[in-house]
Amino acid sequence: MKRRLLEEEHRIFQTAVRSFLDKEAVPYFDQWEEERMVPREFWIKLGKQGYLCPQAAEQYGGIGADFIYNVIINEEFARVGLGLMGVGLHNDIIAPYLETYGSTEQKEHWLPKCISGESILAIAMTEPGAGSDLQAIKTTAFRDGDSYILNGQKTFISNGICSDLVLVACKTDPKAQPAYKGISLMLVERDTPGFTRGRKMDKMGMHSQDTAELFFEDCRVPAENLIGEEGKGFYYMMNSLPRERLVTAITSQVAAEEMLRETLEYTGIRKAFGRPLKDQQHIQFTLAELKSEIVLGRTFVDRVIEAYLAGEDMGTESSIAKWWVTEMANRVAYQCLQLHGGYGYMEEYPIARWYRDIRVTPIYAGSNEIMKTIIARTL
Ligand SMILES: Cc1cc2nc3c(=O)[nH]c(=O)nc-3n(C[C@H](O)[C@H](O)[C@H](O)COP(=O)(O)OP(=O)(O)OC[C@H]3O[C@@H](n4cnc5c(N)ncnc54)[C@H](O)[C@@H]3O)c2cc1C
Repeated sequence: MKRRLLEEEHRIFQTAVRSFLDKEAVPYFDQWEEERMVPREFWIKLGKQGYLCPQAAEQYGGIGADFIYNVIINEEFARVGLGLMGVGLHNDIIAPYLETYGSTEQKEHWLPKCISGESILAIAMTEPGAGSDLQAIKTTAFRDGDSYILNGQKTFISNGICSDLVLVACKTDPKAQPAYKGISLMLVERDTPGFTRGRKMDKMGMHSQDTAELFFEDCRVPAENLIGEEGKGFYYMMNSLPRERLVTAITSQVAAEEMLRETLEYTGIRKAFGRPLKDQQHIQFTLAELKSEIVLGRTFVDRVIEAYLAGEDMGTESSIAKWWVTEMANRVAYQCLQLHGGYGYMEEYPIARWYRDIRVTPIYAGSNEIMKTIIARTL
């Protein structure tokens, strides 16, 4: 079936992104995985190509592109490896807070650097004691003259080490009832006194993506770094998280497609009992089932992208896509590794990396259990 979402101009853009990555990412990706970091020079190259925040308005240096271009960037980067997810996080999850809720001064000050790659973004919501239950965060920010004094700890923060600008969720009114009314968002710059980074966390997968703990100790943040209004942070996050869920569904869908592609290649070459694996009926059935699930996922994900492009409310559908596609991709990973036999367990085969990397997708961007509670509320 032809993919209807992409028009001719999108395919041209897709080819350009793919050939850029073939030259600038694919040859170095194994090294980045080993070094546990994507180098800063790569971000600068992305900025020069126009692949950072393409959606940003022209007055700030963006190209005002519609979401379909971000979809292509997310898909092509995921094809290289999920370790590059930090780029989608920067483009689609964090920059939109600044674009949507930031003041003109904030946008003029920060967006050009986010577009050029000089400023890498991170978002710090999760704390050691609060992940799914965001209202339970303990980080506080109290007003003191023309600053806020920020205190607290964050964990599992993607781009935590390489980021220059961190959007921090904190409580400006810890006594507020209900608790979400006390949550605010503020931007904290690298090198702000009192802001330190802990260890780079040792993950089971997505090795080139850096993940870190962040600490704020009497960290003085200028009051003009507050995003939007005090006490509205939770509301801003609830409005923005459907896009994050959709992006996670998009990248997991691509991962599933890539795993099947690798496995079709492998089972076409590997022989057992005198025939390629792919010609054995049981294996054909397994491959046919995987293909069917992947096509169903693709159809639904593209439909949700269309809804988002049309400005329709896709809050529930993004949660459905997030939980279903990430679990489907994990089923695909399990079966595809199995079909590689012992070689699948060896790091030389890409399926081993996909298997490790995909495991986190039902956990982050709102766990799949939380997705189901969101869907259940609409029943
Ligand atoms: C690699 C990685 C990158 C991440 N990047 C970021 C980032 O950049 N910024 C950031 O802020 N956070 C980030 N996170 C954190 C991530 O969003 C959280 O891990 C996630 O929201 C789950 O929170 P938790 O780990 O505290 O688990 P918990 O909230 O403790 O949940 C534990 C388990 O209980 C389940 N559970 C919890 N409550 C319920 C309920 N009411 N009903 C049913 N089940 C429930 C959960 O689904 C989960 O399975 C990242 C995490 C990882 C692993």
